[in-house]
Formats: sequence, C-alpha cells, structure tokens
Amino acid sequence: MSARLFSVTYDEARARFLQAAAAIGAGVSSHVHSLEGMADEEIATDVALLGAADAAKLFIVSSGTHGPEGFAGSACQLGLLGDALARRAADRGIALLLIHAVNPFGFSHLRRTNEDNVDLNRNFNDFAASYPDNPVYEEVHALLVPAAWPPSAANEERLAAAMVRLAGQRAPGVSSGQARHPDGLFYSGAAPAWSNRTVREIVRHHGAGRRHIAWIDIHTGLGPYGHGEKIFGRHPEATLRRALSWWGRDLIASTAADTISPRTTGHITSLAPQECPEAAITPSTLEYGTLPSSEVRRALRGEAWLAGHPDALPELAAEIRRAVRDAFYVDADDWKGMVLGQFRAFALQTIKGLAGECV
Ligand SMILES: [Zn+2]
Repeated sequence: MSARLFSVTYDEARARFLQAAAAIGAGVSSHVHSLEGMADEEIATDVALLGAADAAKLFIVSSGTHGPEGFAGSACQLGLLGDALARRAADRGIALLLIHAVNPFGFSHLRRTNEDNVDLNRNFNDFAASYPDNPVYEEVHALLVPAAWPPSAANEERLAAAMVRLAGQRAPGVSSGQARHPDGLFYSGAAPAWSNRTVREIVRHHGAGRRHIAWIDIHTGLGPYGHGEKIFGRHPEATLRRALSWWGRDLIASTAADTISPRTTGHITSLAPQECPEAAITPSTLEYGTLPSSEVRRALRGEAWLAGHPDALPELAAEIRRAVRDAFYVDADDWKGMVLGQFRAFALQTIKGLAGECV
C-alpha cells in the first residue's frame, strides 16, 4: 500500500527517512535548526547520499521547501530509498542526494513559510539587487491578511472581486512574490534564510566535482487534484531542450502561458548553477494539485494571519493549522497513489536521462 509511505507528523517522517537511509547504507548528515518543532522535538534538514562521493553525476531530490508540502515529498523520498531503482542508479555511477525537509520549522509547525514568514521559494535572490515590485499584490495585501480571522463576508466579497479583476494579469501575479510586507503572503524575506544558507552549503558540498546534476524539488498545492505538473523554471534554452528530451512534452516551462505555476523570483533550484558552476544542471519542480485554489488561498491567508497573532485562541490556531495541512496534503489513498506513481516515473526518466539513455 503506497499510503504507508506517508507520515502523520514531521517527526515521524524524519525518523522514517533517517532509518531508511541508514538501512541501505546511505551516508547521512543532519543540519539541526536552532528552534524546536511543534511537539518540542529537534528539527533539522537531513541529507542522505547514496552512491560514490566522486560520481560524475548527481540526482538531487528535495522535500519540504514549503513546510507541509513535505508530507508528499518525504513519502516520495522514502519510496526511493526502498526502491531497487536507487541502487541501480548508484551502480551506474549516479549518486543520489536526498534533502529532507528544506523548511523543517514549517513542516513541523504546519506552515508553508519558515519561522520568519518567509516563502523560501521566493528567497533565493540576489539581495544586493532590489526585489521586483509587485503592484498586483499591493492591490490585495490588506484584503488577503485581514485584521480579524475568520474574515468577514464583506472582506471575502471584496477579495473575490479583486481576484477576478486581476486574474488576467500574469507577470507578476499575486503569488509571484513580494518584498514589502513581512506579514503578508509570498514574502521574499530581506536576507538569505537559514534554509537558504543550509541548502546552498549542502548542494555546494555534494555537488563539487560533478559533471551533471539533476534536481527535482517536490511541491504540492497547485493544479488539478493529484496531477503532478513538471515545471521548468528560468534556465537556458539548451537546458530546456535537454529537459524536454528526458521528461517529455508535458514538461512545462514556467514562462509558458498554460502553466499553473506563477512567475516567481528567487526559487530554490536557481542556486544550483550558482553553487556548482562547473556542472551541467537539469532542474525541475514537481507540483501536485490538492484542493481548489480558492481553498488553498484561504488556508494561506489564515496562516499569515496566525503568524501575526501568536496569542490567538488555541482552538482557532489549531483550526488554521489543520486547514494548511489539508491544503497541501490530501490524506486519501487515491491522491497518495498518484503522487508516488508519478514520482517514480519521473525519477526513472531522470536516471535514464543522466545515464545518457535518452536523446
Ligand atoms: Zn510549494
């Protein structure tokens, strides 16, 4: 049963990941966060490396960049650790690097953002340059994060009307990222976050000396229920051609008109060419749909409100966290089966691509 690979809490997911990595002889290292988890547990970004440290090719799979989206990503990683595919890849000279819980604070506390309300997939920026203005977000910020929660009917009506009005505008969109409202949604942060610095260090260390690096960063919350959209970010044209030859015509460039992905600034895979300039990089974001976008947005609004109201009633706080979890992790067997099945096919394509069996 594929559902068995999914965990109920961050702590359980972490323990299972570490156990499975040790069981197949992977090298494991942990980057412990200074804060604690929801149940006062230690939280960390854990790393498992399978295969030769000096293999020319490296396949990275990362989970939990957006906190509770890690339930799906962690299950995919656990499946890979227990799969003969991983060992076969290692035997073909492809090292496998699994980065578990990029955002362990959000994963444990059921927040898409990190401990400072930073959207980590908007945080991998050049902070010496200014973040792009987002006038579309400016128009709705006050409506998105109201003074009281739950929001009033009037607030909901005004926001719905604004979203309809703004729907045709894609660059930037509401969720593209913004740097002006630390209490808002899709906040880029003002400096590299702990997770940013940590993942850079991990990729720099394990990517050193590699000739080719493929990277799948697993997300949830956008698109049709259970569908895994393979999204290709802003990378060179030659890289896009290679990615299409590995992953097929359903790979979607995030600049294309028909993608469900917003045009973002500061996404995580952009660090790979910076930290590993000698290597060819083939990156992708895998995005699984969960609930309708209006429900996902409502969960994110609640999350932002709660981040600004740490004194909220415990029942209300628990309700908001539950809504966030439900928005990014569908606790249903059909959804879990779709997540794992599509991931395995994607991982297989990636290994074949790295092995040079495509093109
Ligand atoms: Zn995400």
